[in-house]
Amino acid sequence: MSTALAPAGETIVVLNAGSSSIKFAAFARSMDDAVDPPRILHGEIDGLGKEARLLAWRDDGQALPSGGLSGTAEAGQWYASELRMLFEWLEQQLPGRSLCAVAHRVVHGGTRFTKPVRVTAEVLEQLKALCPLAPLHQPHNLAAIEVIAALEPALPQFACFDTAFHADQPWEAQTYALPRRLRDAGVKRYGFHGLSYEYIASVLPAHLGALADQRVVVAHLGNGASMCALRNRRSVATSMGFTALDGLMMGTRCGSLDPGVVLYLAMELGMDAKAIEHMLYHESGLLGVSEISSDMRVLEASDDPRAKAAIDLFVHRIHRELGSLAAALGGLDVLVFTAGIGEHSSLVRERVCHAASWLGIALDEEANRAGARRISSAASRASAWVIPTNEELMLTRHAQDLLLQVC
Ligand code: ADP
Repeated sequence: MSTALAPAGETIVVLNAGSSSIKFAAFARSMDDAVDPPRILHGEIDGLGKEARLLAWRDDGQALPSGGLSGTAEAGQWYASELRMLFEWLEQQLPGRSLCAVAHRVVHGGTRFTKPVRVTAEVLEQLKALCPLAPLHQPHNLAAIEVIAALEPALPQFACFDTAFHADQPWEAQTYALPRRLRDAGVKRYGFHGLSYEYIASVLPAHLGALADQRVVVAHLGNGASMCALRNRRSVATSMGFTALDGLMMGTRCGSLDPGVVLYLAMELGMDAKAIEHMLYHESGLLGVSEISSDMRVLEASDDPRAKAAIDLFVHRIHRELGSLAAALGGLDVLVFTAGIGEHSSLVRERVCHAASWLGIALDEEANRAGARRISSAASRASAWVIPTNEELMLTRHAQDLLLQVC
């Protein structure tokens, strides 16, 4: 491998470790605070624990040689072999560069971690105690940290939380009308997708100028989907709650649900907690309603009325949530679409904007179809925008800041 990929220097690796895949990216550490670190490469190991495959690309889109991943997880060592191979592969791809930190996307920081943090043994124990709050994500996020700590004990590792951006919301936005002792025990609305919202908030002034600090709703519409109300670029309310199951309908998650449905499933249909969890997280949403796919591209291309019904419901839920978040803000000045569906589905954007005409949004159909940044017409009282999110860059920015405290 030539050194053309990047000149010598320090590298920050960011990881998003999930149950079946690890997404990664390598950034060149920038010594200038005002300059975002450039991304050198990015990729994914999928098929974890089965037939693991590493796919990666340079930042210019050119595919990189994939590593020879055997993909056999060592017993009790969560993907240790895959992570070891990833680090060896990175070393081959980035000769002459030194790894200075790994920043992890960690789903839950609980009430304690409201900012990114360097992971120590003590921090790790505290984060493990939060696993019951995010059982599908947190254990994998933390296992990756543990494996890397064993491989490279001196390497600084940072945890950046999806919940942190929402930590300062007003009490009413965070509190369920449950007995107070439950709130005290941590049963409250945390909100997620915080790294995405934090990134969008950081780039709003460049797109909107002074409007950035007004009443903004961001719709993060990916496989996981949520919305967030921003005022002065801070989170005021969000659609996800105690878990990432609440709020919008998602690829396979149900979103908001009358808790009585869960009681019915358990008490009348005799389903156990695991079966209910599986249904709500993996068999619901676009997939459950369409019985075809969780992928918006597939549904948009389908003539099946069930696909149309799923998209109708998806849009309806976004519209309802938009009304609720606009109420939390006392009105709406800006609507931002982001993430896979938000950035690429002109159909969903069009339908949401049309539904939201009562909030002062007038769509510029042509700009929307062309994928322009601003998709509302000049006459629109509230404006609508498409702004790509960049959670990886947000992780790297946090790592840069924390590195200044470490070395
Ligand atoms: P994740 O939450 O896994 O990060 P993404 O943000 O990548 O997900 O979004 C995935 C979703 O984006 C999928 O439903 C996919 O169908 C949708 N998507 C991606 N490209 C398009 C497109 N061109 N048109 C419609 N939907 C798209």
